[in-house]
Amino acid sequence: MTYTERYEQLQAKQLNEWEVLCHCCGSCCGINDNDPCEHLMEVHKGKFFCDIYENRFGMHKTISGKPFKCVPIRDVLQMFWAGDGNCGYK
Ligand code: SF4
Ligand code: SF4
Repeated sequence: MTYTERYEQLQAKQLNEWEVLCHCCGSCCGINDNDPCEHLMEVHKGKFFCDIYENRFGMHKTISGKPFKCVPIRDVLQMFWAGDGNCGYK
């Protein structure tokens, strides 16, 4: 295996380890605020997913039409939101 292949394999492993920390509670997307992002979908009871996940960063709207900017979770970990005590990254 080349260095590039090993590097890419390690990156993929670390990305997977990071992603699985999210248990899809939806709180960082506003599910506990009564006005979540319009792209937040409930897949099972209490489990949510983003219907544009691969292209999520940037300006979006809540269900009521309020604009907001979706950013990487690392950019908001020092902040507080309703339900953040359950976030796997905190
Ligand atoms: S666009 Fe951002 S805020 Fe909206 S559901 Fe997707 S990840 Fe959550
Ligand atoms: S608050 Fe944390 S655990 Fe819940 S959906 Fe957002 S990133 Fe995932």
